[in-house]
Amino acid sequence: MTVTALWFDSTEMLIGGRWLKPSATLPVENPSTGEVVAEIARGGEAEICAAVEAAEAAMAGDWGRMSATERGRVLALIGQAVEARADDLAEIEAQDVGKPLKQARADALALARYMEFYAGAADKVMGETIPYLPGYTVYTLREPHGVTGHIVPWNYPMQIIGRSVGAALAMGNAAVLKPAEEASLTALAFARIAVEAGLPAGALNVVPGLGEEAGAALSGHARVRHLSFTGSVGVGALVQAAAARNIVPVTLELGGKSPQLVFADADLAKALPFLVNAGIQNAGQTCSAASRILVERSRYDEVVEAMAARYRALRVGPALGDHDLGPLISARQKAIVEGYFAVGSDLTVAAEGQIVADAPAGGHYIAPRLLADVRPGHRLAQEEIFGPAQVVIPFDDEAEALAIANGTDYGLVASVWSENGARQMRLARGLRAGQVFLNNYGAGGGVELPFGGVGKSGHGREKGFEALYGFSVLKTVAASHG
Ligand code: NAD
Repeated sequence: MTVTALWFDSTEMLIGGRWLKPSATLPVENPSTGEVVAEIARGGEAEICAAVEAAEAAMAGDWGRMSATERGRVLALIGQAVEARADDLAEIEAQDVGKPLKQARADALALARYMEFYAGAADKVMGETIPYLPGYTVYTLREPHGVTGHIVPWNYPMQIIGRSVGAALAMGNAAVLKPAEEASLTALAFARIAVEAGLPAGALNVVPGLGEEAGAALSGHARVRHLSFTGSVGVGALVQAAAARNIVPVTLELGGKSPQLVFADADLAKALPFLVNAGIQNAGQTCSAASRILVERSRYDEVVEAMAARYRALRVGPALGDHDLGPLISARQKAIVEGYFAVGSDLTVAAEGQIVADAPAGGHYIAPRLLADVRPGHRLAQEEIFGPAQVVIPFDDEAEALAIANGTDYGLVASVWSENGARQMRLARGLRAGQVFLNNYGAGGGVELPFGGVGKSGHGREKGFEALYGFSVLKTVAASHG
């Protein structure tokens, strides 16, 4: 079996502008069928060290000498090339991670849009002059860190590469990218496209491999100057500890248990698609999935029934069949989600979706499940399931809604559905989250919107202009001239 649309040798790694054969490989499984369909490199410490050296050489060479405008032009060309190949990228991603084709294509277009956004932003990051003592001129410079490390998960590879690598390159850093072992194909495809579009050698290096090998080598490398990690809380803590040993700044984009708060005065017709889609998109394997729906008691039954009707219509099937949901990424992830369903066996199942009849037996399919009347303290209302399940929780007033919403370890995204402007403003301030949506839900929001968490959802911000500050260092220059 093969991956259709794959136009390159997926076992090669990109180091210093050259495509290198690995000494060992890892299998690539298609989650829709369970079949091994390709191989990728199993990079380790030696390959990571070579990639960091190549990135340092790029900083000292052509890439480091480019003006911000020239960097922007290269990123713009990469963005256009990604957009032109969006169909191929989508087809590859669908087979690598099980994402329905339409969602995979949206991810490819988001990657192109990140390149476009950071292309335009590259030469618009400025320092300032600071009034100081008489006889002084003081100004600030925004400089690249140098070599940046990027560790990416499997759920939205293209989007996360776009926001993290795109911003790092715009600021003139040289990147070493370690994609997830379950999802490296579009990272490699993106790198091929970037090199063809004119990205200088060593500006981007890609080393696939296992987390505990290539990932640990990258996060512990003493000459990596900044680390961007997106993934689980447990691994995020390991990466932060490794970075601490080298006193390296880290951006951590971790998990979530994001709530949507539905008040009695909400426009339900408008809210309903957001309530369900933000929970089941990407089969619930979304950091900013709206996995908790909090509903004011007077409209609770109505909301549960309307959501249940949508759930009953959901279909799960092979990614290339473009159903509402694809399979989960792996048998391991399916076992985790089934484990949570067992923990929630005391809960009311308000509705379930259906797996299509012709779904291959080896695929990791699971029917989405809506759980009603859930206590806020229940494990399924507290822990990230990372699968297609939402819990619905009733509340009596605004104070209780806020307490429940803020009552988990996480704080990534939240939304408020209400026509009451004063309530919107109070909750926008009161909700403990990196993003708050009022009468909408963005599941991470657009390319332009700063994104990141508080609490166990992580720290630091990516996306938007804000990311450029994280991927740069501020230097203050004080000149005494009399
Ligand atoms: P994961 O933490 O298992 O893996 C993420 C990456 O870390 C992979 O590339 C993996 O190879 C690497 N890794 C694993 N062990 C490592 C180690 N010891 N040292 C260095 N790197 C290591 O996460 P996952 O299962 O791939 O992704 C799911 C998690 O990611 C969920 O918790 C989800 O909420 C979170 N996530 C967060 C965001 C966000 O933006 N906040 C986005 C997507 C996913």
